[in-house]
Amino acid sequence: MPEVVPNPEALRAYAQQVHSDLTIGVLALQGSYWEHEAMLLRVGVGVREVRLPEDLDGLAGLIIPGGESTTMGKLAVEFGLMEPLRAFAQEHAMWGTCAGAIFMSKDARRQQPLLGVMNIEVERNAFGRQVDSFEIDLDIPALTAVDPDPRPFHAIFIRAPLIEAVHPPAEVLARLPDGRIVAAQQGHLLATAFHPELTDDERFHRYFVHLAQRAPVRAG
Ligand code: GLN
Repeated sequence: MPEVVPNPEALRAYAQQVHSDLTIGVLALQGSYWEHEAMLLRVGVGVREVRLPEDLDGLAGLIIPGGESTTMGKLAVEFGLMEPLRAFAQEHAMWGTCAGAIFMSKDARRQQPLLGVMNIEVERNAFGRQVDSFEIDLDIPALTAVDPDPRPFHAIFIRAPLIEAVHPPAEVLARLPDGRIVAAQQGHLLATAFHPELTDDERFHRYFVHLAQRAPVRAG
């Protein structure tokens, strides 16, 4: 098979033309938000850090980064963000990575503030101490919406949750080779247990921008 040589410059120029009118927010209360901002800039969209409800005005979508989901949730409560974030998710794209995915879930098996906007159940720190970080190539067919080359996506897991159950209208987006679920989508909402912002691969961020442009996308 011929090797497919991606042309990042061409992709970036394309993204610049298509998305330059779009601004994506990154929840910047806690955790690894900066890496998402860097990736969004590479993809060619506007970026804004979100700390207060008014920071959501005019955004096309919001990324909730990895970090520590209990701390993030408590800060969101303190900053008056819970209801504004829930309302935002009704109409706009939202993507949680790792702690962000936990925060978007309906059930994390413990008492902690959750947005509950995605019909998924998660188990925090599901991989235990022995393998609290690992990397693996995953097949994620949905990404062909933004890049026709179906190469695997290199997924980085850091004290990651598992998505234990996905209930309609949420759908499974990616699984580990043993079948356990690590990414889900519900219309314009996304949850990944891993960290695409720590790779060099822009496809997940481009996929999110693609959803943001089309939101609201009703699931089910
Ligand atoms: N272990 C963290 C939590 O449960 C998530 C880790 C991460 O976001 N990298 O909140």
